Amino acid sequence: MGRVRDTGLIQDEPLIFEQGGEGRKGYSLPRWDVEKVEAQNLIPSYLLRKELEGFPQLSEIDVVRHFTRLSRWNYGVDSGLYPLGSCTMKYNPKVNEEIARMSGFSDIHPYTPEDLSKGILKLMYELQGFLAEITGMDDVTLQPAAGAHGELTGLMMVKACLQGRGERRKKVLVPDTAHGTNCSTSAIASYQMIEIKSNEKGVIPLEKVAEMMDEEVAAIMVTNPNTLGLFEEHLSKIAEIVHRKGGFVYCDGANLNALMGIVKLGDLGVDVVHINLHKTFSTPHGGGGPGAGPVAVKKELAPYLPIPVIEKHGEIYRLNDDRPHSIGKIKAFYGNFGVLIKAYAYILSMGAEGLKRVSEMAVLNAYYLMKRLKDYYYLPYDRPCMHECVFTDRFQEKFHVSTLDIAKRLIDYGFHPPTIYFPLVVKGALMMEPTETESKESIDRFIETMIEIAKEAEENPDLLRQAPQRVKVRRLDEVLAARKPKLKWTIDK
Ligand SMILES: *Cc1c(COP(=O)(O)O)cnc(C)c1O
Repeated sequence: MGRVRDTGLIQDEPLIFEQGGEGRKGYSLPRWDVEKVEAQNLIPSYLLRKELEGFPQLSEIDVVRHFTRLSRWNYGVDSGLYPLGSCTMKYNPKVNEEIARMSGFSDIHPYTPEDLSKGILKLMYELQGFLAEITGMDDVTLQPAAGAHGELTGLMMVKACLQGRGERRKKVLVPDTAHGTNCSTSAIASYQMIEIKSNEKGVIPLEKVAEMMDEEVAAIMVTNPNTLGLFEEHLSKIAEIVHRKGGFVYCDGANLNALMGIVKLGDLGVDVVHINLHKTFSTPHGGGGPGAGPVAVKKELAPYLPIPVIEKHGEIYRLNDDRPHSIGKIKAFYGNFGVLIKAYAYILSMGAEGLKRVSEMAVLNAYYLMKRLKDYYYLPYDRPCMHECVFTDRFQEKFHVSTLDIAKRLIDYGFHPPTIYFPLVVKGALMMEPTETESKESIDRFIETMIEIAKEAEENPDLLRQAPQRVKVRRLDEVLAARKPKLKWTIDK
């Protein structure tokens, strides 16, 4: 344990443009025994590709090897533990992918008439019901394509509702422990973002909310559990204060795998919450999507939901566009339907008890990790965590070893590093979420590696400062990459 377990071939791979040779093809067909016809005579010329200068010409095996090798440079949840905090990166059952690919789902066109799409509408309607039940809210839209998109949808509904009351409020309160997207959302929804400083326990202080809340504030956006992995324990009291002044409580519920079956956010006074199906409900997160960020609301905000809404009349499911107060459409058609199918299948297969167990395991695993590592890494908020926990590099500072060095060294041991330097309220943060899907052995392996790294920091800090060594690409100049990105590859002649 603790020793290197993953070693192997690190294959180099040039760009595909640098490979191959004139006239090589991906196939060889037998000599034809029919008359040859030029493609131009069969296919309209505007559909035919022009000759591309420098276009690579390779045999089939070279193409297959090129992409297979590149794919092995990647690290993902299917290759090992992926302990990113704030963005749950867990294993998702493959069976739900199979279900989403069933032809009745995957072949249906968004313009299929309503009476030929009853099953689809039923699935979406029932999924809305499940999400409303899990969050303790009244109504749901499935349209938003991501968490941040859900946030914007939520704030647009709040704004529309306030305008309906004849009010124009200017500000949104956002604690420093919120996800970064909350700040961007407030700005894009044309609100002025006012920051609330969290207290020494890592949560929002009630007095500050009372002090800052006034008739100018449209909403407070609370991430719960917050980005320190802590439960916002005063949320219902915060909600009371905000409601008394006519504001709304927005909850960022992206990481619902800490709460399902244990806490209903609606019971805590939340008016609107988004959920990341691509974190909690069986769509892999990362890799560019697609995702889905459904938004659940209380009755008061329901008239503002995006159109069309799905309604059930007896046994008939219908789409309704006739909603005068709606904020309109926020996504083409009905959202990313493939993601919705996976969430639906996942919820049905887990059942209420299963979802609760997910949350219990997510929290237990994080707490176990926290307890076992806290003698080796500084824990700025030493209190029970939810689905993730945050350490820092304070113990390693005296050896001139930083969070970045620790993260890079993990790569040498075959692990994806955790989230680093976030949340911003913690200096040198190392934020970890093992998730509910890891076995005890796999979490132990990670813990023992982290302990080994803590020892190395003391005994041989250069090892960390020079990490990673056992990879194809060493430390990159991240500043250069951000300031002078090379977005286009040109063929040098
Ligand atoms: C991931 C996450 C988001 C943003 O979700 P996207 O789908 O990436 O837009 C927002 N808030 C929290 C707390 C998150 O973890």
